[in-house]
Amino acid sequence: MKLKEINIYIHIPFCKSKCNYCSFYSVPISKSKYNPAYFKYYFDLLIKEMKDMSQKFSLCDSLVNGIYFGGGTPSIMPADFFSGLLRYIENNFKIMGDAEITVEINPESGDFEKLSALKSFGVNRLSIGAQSLDPGVLRTAGRIHDKKDIYDAVNNAKKAGFKNISLDLIIGLPKQTENVFHSDIEQILSMEPKHISAYMLSIENNTEFYKIYDKKNGTTFASEECIAGYYEILCEFLDKADYVHYEISNFSKPGYESRHNINYWKRGEYLGLGPSASSFFKIRDKEEIRKTNVSDLSIYALNILDKSENGTKTDFVEVLTEKDKINEEIFLSLRTNCGISLKRLIEFVNPDIINNFINAGLMQIKKCRLNDNIALTVKGMLLSSEIFAKIMV
Ligand code: SF4
Repeated sequence: MKLKEINIYIHIPFCKSKCNYCSFYSVPISKSKYNPAYFKYYFDLLIKEMKDMSQKFSLCDSLVNGIYFGGGTPSIMPADFFSGLLRYIENNFKIMGDAEITVEINPESGDFEKLSALKSFGVNRLSIGAQSLDPGVLRTAGRIHDKKDIYDAVNNAKKAGFKNISLDLIIGLPKQTENVFHSDIEQILSMEPKHISAYMLSIENNTEFYKIYDKKNGTTFASEECIAGYYEILCEFLDKADYVHYEISNFSKPGYESRHNINYWKRGEYLGLGPSASSFFKIRDKEEIRKTNVSDLSIYALNILDKSENGTKTDFVEVLTEKDKINEEIFLSLRTNCGISLKRLIEFVNPDIINNFINAGLMQIKKCRLNDNIALTVKGMLLSSEIFAKIMV
């Protein structure tokens, strides 16, 4: 019998400080909590959650295809935190021989000793949050690293033996003029990462940027047109540098696409651990469940320790309807360079609508594994939300 394949995502909800654009769930970790006892407390919660979820969803026989430590700032955790979790997973699941094991690293905490230790535990991919290399841009964004930290982290990673390194870049941060953006791209490329994730800045309502957006306080935010222009510049640069634009925000050298991301876009199953983490499981009779943990560490802990009382916020659990499944399939496939099979898409979407998008230069027909597929063009990727809104069933 074929074993069920899953990915595991582990959320580390701690950061040294909060960046001005960040809407992910993370809390600044105070000096008083930066100690082994506190890390052990969080470690135990994750282990308990893993045990409970494995039992509830019969995951112990699953084949683990990838493990991803994201955050927050995973790299502020001590090395033994990772070795302990990886050992637990190894002892309780079947990890594929070539599983992708990623840790997100913030440049200021990418020291050689820690990265070497991660390598020795079997971590084989690092995702380093550069975001920009310009001092003014980094300062305004609330990042606590500088350009030297980025170069040092990449050099340390290479010295520690990592070949699969990804760098994150944000498009449209305040003070990122076109010249600065060009320079950001050139410097990122000079470090020869195998993978680049580039996210267009969006101002979310739970961020520091949101509080000052549209207020005359001297911080100028790039217009949507400007961000779109930068995105097109980036796509051109990376195409010339032989990166495959395999998803709206992701580029890689051939063979270095992130398996963690691909699993998500292909609607593969995953177990998410920690506050704000999501899980997705396909259960019997085609039932599909998405579960998202509360975005609050204290409440998460109460839920995990079965100490929640009436009125405590519980995790969000959703059983997907047939319509949800189709919409997810269309929306997630169209984010990727391969898109979705034309035959499959016209089961749900009027061909005239598709033709209109093709004529407007927003969609294209692409051969993918001998199929005629429909994929977004770069212009279409920039308007993906509007396109998805028009074709959702
Ligand atoms: S962007 Fe990263 S480092 Fe900054 S607050 Fe968010 S999770 Fe933490």
